[in-house]
Amino acid sequence: MPQIINCPLCGSKYGEIQNKYCSKDVVLLLKRNNRRVENDLLLSSVENLWGTDGCYFVQCAECSLSYASPLISGDSTLYKALYDNSKYYKKWKWEYDITLKKILLLCKQNSFTSYTLLEIGAGNGQFVKKIPNSIILPKNILTTEFSIFGKSEINRLGIECIEAKLINLCSLENKEKFAFICMFQVLEHLDELDQVFNSLSFLLKPKGHIFIAVPNNYHREMFESIGIIEDIPPIHISRWNKKSFTFAAYKYGWEIVDHKIEHKRFIKNYLIYLTHKYKMLNRINDLHNRFIRIAIKMLLLMILFPLNLKHVMLFNKKEMGIAQWIHLQKT
Ligand SMILES: [Zn+2]
Repeated sequence: MPQIINCPLCGSKYGEIQNKYCSKDVVLLLKRNNRRVENDLLLSSVENLWGTDGCYFVQCAECSLSYASPLISGDSTLYKALYDNSKYYKKWKWEYDITLKKILLLCKQNSFTSYTLLEIGAGNGQFVKKIPNSIILPKNILTTEFSIFGKSEINRLGIECIEAKLINLCSLENKEKFAFICMFQVLEHLDELDQVFNSLSFLLKPKGHIFIAVPNNYHREMFESIGIIEDIPPIHISRWNKKSFTFAAYKYGWEIVDHKIEHKRFIKNYLIYLTHKYKMLNRINDLHNRFIRIAIKMLLLMILFPLNLKHVMLFNKKEMGIAQWIHLQKT
């Protein structure tokens, strides 16, 4: 196993190990995303990234951030092997909804003379396509995305989409250019956190707003307590909570305007639980007919309910939303 690194956010060397992963176990966990990918390809890809056959997940005693050690993001080989992009980016999400409402409100208040928006990891443009042209013109929106499918979908909307890391956007021309920056379900995948946050500060206008959504830490911890692991390095390499965001805000000169946890998603949580516990249920997702898929799932939810009552009741807690969202403002 590798040496444990200091916290990538606050630099503390004090932390508690939450999980240990060996590369072979990680391969089996990652295969939940794509059962068809070859074990050897995944194993060599993961071990090449880590430079060893293991990884820790550590929670910092000072700022409370949980992070993978080594803190190394998955590369394009790994993402391409695991994700069929056309399948993954489709739905409107809770975090899109609250961000859009907040942006519309801020624009009505005339906070800036002109409005420009940057979305990092924009998927297939599901969020940006809902921004009314009367509020922000498509020419004032910039997005980044690594998937070829996502990029072409966004370009079809008349919105610029480039394949670039945050640091590569930091040209003089983009300095303090954006009134709004959005990162939905992206931060937990990124390494070099200092570079990420400094880049956000560089790109954001004074008094500009950042909207970040990441998985809800409470949800992840609750699932781990019953043996279901969803934060798997090198795909998810950090886990955030209100305290770690507060530390980041302080360090990079931002103010926390708002922090929210998604309302509980009982049926979604119960389905996640069942597909982990009864592996064969994953095969239902391979069925092409959506109505048959839903009907089988609903039937199984009911049949298996009494057998899993002890765990199922955990999913009914109000903190059991899947995502958390934070609104930060540059001071
Ligand atoms: Zn820390």
